[in-house]
Amino acid sequence: MVNEMVWDLSQLVDNTDPKAIREKLNALVAEANKIGEKFHGKIVNLSAEDVLELLKARDDLKLKFDGTASYCYLIYAANSTDDVAKQLNESARQAMMNANQALAFIDIELGKLLAAKPSLIGNAVLAEYRHYLERIVRRVPHMLSETEEKLTIMKDKNGIGAWELFQSDWLSTRAFTIEVDGEKKTMPFGQITGLYQSPNRDLRRRAYETVYDVVSKDDIVWASAIRAVCDDHVQMCNTRKWPSPMTQSLIDNDVDEQAINSLMKTIQKNAGLYQRYLRLKARLMKLPKLANYDLWAPLPQAPSMTYAWSDASNEVTSAYAEFDQQIGDWIIDMYEKRHLDGEPRNGKTAGAFCSSWLAGKSAYILQSFNGRMGDVYAQAHELGHAIHAYLLSRAQKPTNCDVGSCVAETGSIFGELLLTERLLQKAKTKEEKQAILSVILDEFGNAAFLVSARVFLEQVLYDNLKQGQLLDGEAIGRLWVTARTSICGDAVDWLDILKWGWATTPHYYISNYRFYNYPYVYAQLFVYALYRLYKEQGKEFIPKLKALLAAGSSKSPRDLATELGFDITSEEFWQKGMKQYEEFINTLEKTMQH
Ligand SMILES: [Zn+2]
Repeated sequence: MVNEMVWDLSQLVDNTDPKAIREKLNALVAEANKIGEKFHGKIVNLSAEDVLELLKARDDLKLKFDGTASYCYLIYAANSTDDVAKQLNESARQAMMNANQALAFIDIELGKLLAAKPSLIGNAVLAEYRHYLERIVRRVPHMLSETEEKLTIMKDKNGIGAWELFQSDWLSTRAFTIEVDGEKKTMPFGQITGLYQSPNRDLRRRAYETVYDVVSKDDIVWASAIRAVCDDHVQMCNTRKWPSPMTQSLIDNDVDEQAINSLMKTIQKNAGLYQRYLRLKARLMKLPKLANYDLWAPLPQAPSMTYAWSDASNEVTSAYAEFDQQIGDWIIDMYEKRHLDGEPRNGKTAGAFCSSWLAGKSAYILQSFNGRMGDVYAQAHELGHAIHAYLLSRAQKPTNCDVGSCVAETGSIFGELLLTERLLQKAKTKEEKQAILSVILDEFGNAAFLVSARVFLEQVLYDNLKQGQLLDGEAIGRLWVTARTSICGDAVDWLDILKWGWATTPHYYISNYRFYNYPYVYAQLFVYALYRLYKEQGKEFIPKLKALLAAGSSKSPRDLATELGFDITSEEFWQKGMKQYEEFINTLEKTMQH
């Protein structure tokens, strides 16, 4: 009997024999080197036709070996204790690194060519690659000489790179001792943070106290790390001529400052709406006020709804099919071809993800399905990513399938809203409705509002550095409390020790990745605005959403919105997303009236 909950990865390759797969990986590196030999050092003299040949060659290479590389990563993700999987994953990583290294010169040399011949960007021969070339041009003014770039990599390895490693090593090697069900237990960070969502309120509070009691003892270390990372970034802004600390991230995410400013202003203006939800949640939890350890807590009276694998797939398929038949058919295709791995097993990667399979014009999904409502939502979310892959792999070259974080969650969050719509229609009791609504309202509150507080902190850290303020642990803590309060107001009681909340946020320490957070905010509000538009326009909206997803990275997020008739630099657009959020809060409030 075939297990429907286990995926079939054999479709990714012609031959699953490890020896054949290794040969294929060697061929990948050899072919990448061949492209390198042909074009390295010569791009500056290429015509438009030659550039097209080069980019097509790289895209063909990607398609040819896409399945093999995916196969190696995915069998390992499904079971990291399997020796063959371990070896193949390692071989694939090495081969991909070698191939990428062999082709790394392309973007750098294209930058030089385009700086010398900007008219190439508009050349009709390169129309399909136009936006990709535009993105390279945007980086050119900030590139350093080859020697300087090499020195930068060297300084980062033992500089900001070391701080990043230190922060994650510190967290993952600490042991936390806490009493659970009358028994003293010692556990790592990854496990104790799981208790933040326990139904037991006292345990949640103690979990936070235990973690931050340990964290706060090393305040000097956290402050040194953050100062070093921020100060290094300020230096790099001067060296690379980035006008603001956010510029690097804006270029990476293919957005502009005006749009992000409007987005963040909209969040600030609507903080009261979030606080309204927090007060409703407090009422649902029969509390005078929420504490910080209630923000992610499940509702105590939520009915325990469990789903079999087939129930979940029925709900999710119907939710998508009711929206659009073609999308529904692709979802069925995902289940029928067994592209989902839901079986919980030892050695399986935690969480859930969707991996695009461009060559197969499809995708693969991994999750550990335990029948909870959250698992059904995770499935709908990942299938939204899969639909994105179905659409863009049919419309775009691989170069245009590199979707940035602001747009990458469009299919997935939209899918969650479609599932919500369906589950709400079927819900029989108000408790059921409240449980469903709290899933998406908690998610939005976290990703749009609480994450914004982190953006505000990052901004104010740079302002303080510029003014020459000394940022010790207490000072950063005060700035964090101010940022947090500007979002939550007085709707939440925070444990005093949570002024160290910033210390455990990995984003602040990631090297060469400043302002990591606002794309989460963008994604939530963008999709809520799209969903609102769907509610207004009905069926007419569906082809527009499909065109947006099919465009991949061939257009900027700004242009994608313009095609829908929106200006993402205006607060009016973002307010539309907020309106939808308010609508969900109103629906929740209605379930609470007698
Ligand atoms: Zn996602």
